[in-house]
Amino acid sequence: VGTRAVDLGQRSETVRRANLSALLRALHLAGPLSRSELVARTGLTRSSIRSLVGELVAAGLAAEEAPAPSGIPGRPSPLVRSVPDGATVLALDVAVDRVAAALVGLGGTVFASREIDRAREAVTVESTVDELVTLVASLDDEVGIPDRVVGVGVAVAGLVRRADGMVRMAPNLGWTDVPLGAILGSALATDVPIHVANEADLGALAELRRGTATGVDDLAFIFGEVGVGGGIIVGGQPLTGAAGYGGEVGHMPVRADGRACRCGSTGCWETEVGEEALLALAGYPPDGGRAAVEALIAAAGEGDARALAALEEVGRWIGVGIVGLVNLLDPDLVIVGGLFARIHPYIRRPVEEQIERRVLPASRALVRVVPSLLGVDAPLIGAAELAMEPLLSDPAYWIGRSRGTPELASA
Ligand SMILES: [Zn+2]
Repeated sequence: VGTRAVDLGQRSETVRRANLSALLRALHLAGPLSRSELVARTGLTRSSIRSLVGELVAAGLAAEEAPAPSGIPGRPSPLVRSVPDGATVLALDVAVDRVAAALVGLGGTVFASREIDRAREAVTVESTVDELVTLVASLDDEVGIPDRVVGVGVAVAGLVRRADGMVRMAPNLGWTDVPLGAILGSALATDVPIHVANEADLGALAELRRGTATGVDDLAFIFGEVGVGGGIIVGGQPLTGAAGYGGEVGHMPVRADGRACRCGSTGCWETEVGEEALLALAGYPPDGGRAAVEALIAAAGEGDARALAALEEVGRWIGVGIVGLVNLLDPDLVIVGGLFARIHPYIRRPVEEQIERRVLPASRALVRVVPSLLGVDAPLIGAAELAMEPLLSDPAYWIGRSRGTPELASA
């Protein structure tokens, strides 16, 4: 056997792995799909699809089922779908005023999710990790965390170095250089990979894969809660910046005489549009959290003038920031999520007024500003996608090692 034969063998193995990945990704994101649809989506031949589907079925990652009667003459092709419990991930979300956890299967099936709302003053690393461990234990009680956990994805309201899960700076949590990935690994007593990323970046990923932005290449996702984060997609790729900390739209300077920000600067966007600014303007305790926000929205619904004026003012400042982003990025879509989606009916008009007055006409004609349909769960859904990504990128590797999978010990 010459070197050329070896090269060809290696190349065909590389091709097989890439094709398995394309197929499983299509099933995960768009399944169930017929074999004809899989041919159209992946560009693979029918015979390749047949053999690769067979591999995925044998590995428990996909299943074939009889098609629904189509009414079209001829033999309908069977549907191929991903098997939700063929591979599962644990998704965690560390926001300022809540923590959440979900067990999510292949295809995006959420088996169970739990959350804890919390007061602002309790946000230490220790209490946060304790809350996450409690949530994971209650998920395990509720649905049982299976042996085949592919990984853990964690969304955090802060700047994250993804390579090692280090939270470099989270001003609204009061954290600096917290090795969250490592801490969670030991708290959860697991050796499965733990992937930590910024909550708004993961929210943008969720919108691209499971939300309002499927098929969109240029997108700004603005996620409001206590702080304001941004996940920006340019030409189909996340905007990361030189060191991975790009997209921090909450700290864009928007007001020369603005308030002090927790980041150390003044007049940042989030000091005008974050949860605390909204609550303070409406006369509620700024640290009142989600309960106070709901009370404010209820008051606005009953026509309370101060609540409506606060929403109008915050809407105007949200509009100012969006104008800057649209003029800079020329996106197809701006998605407002979290708090901003919740108050969208009230901020829609002031935001549109700012866009009408201040966005360059060429970009204004194209851009749409829409609320997220994923609600506050967008980062959690993105965290699940992040944790599933190694499996989607190389299912063959996972299939090969699945007999000796490390288990997630019950917490
Ligand atoms: Zn700031």
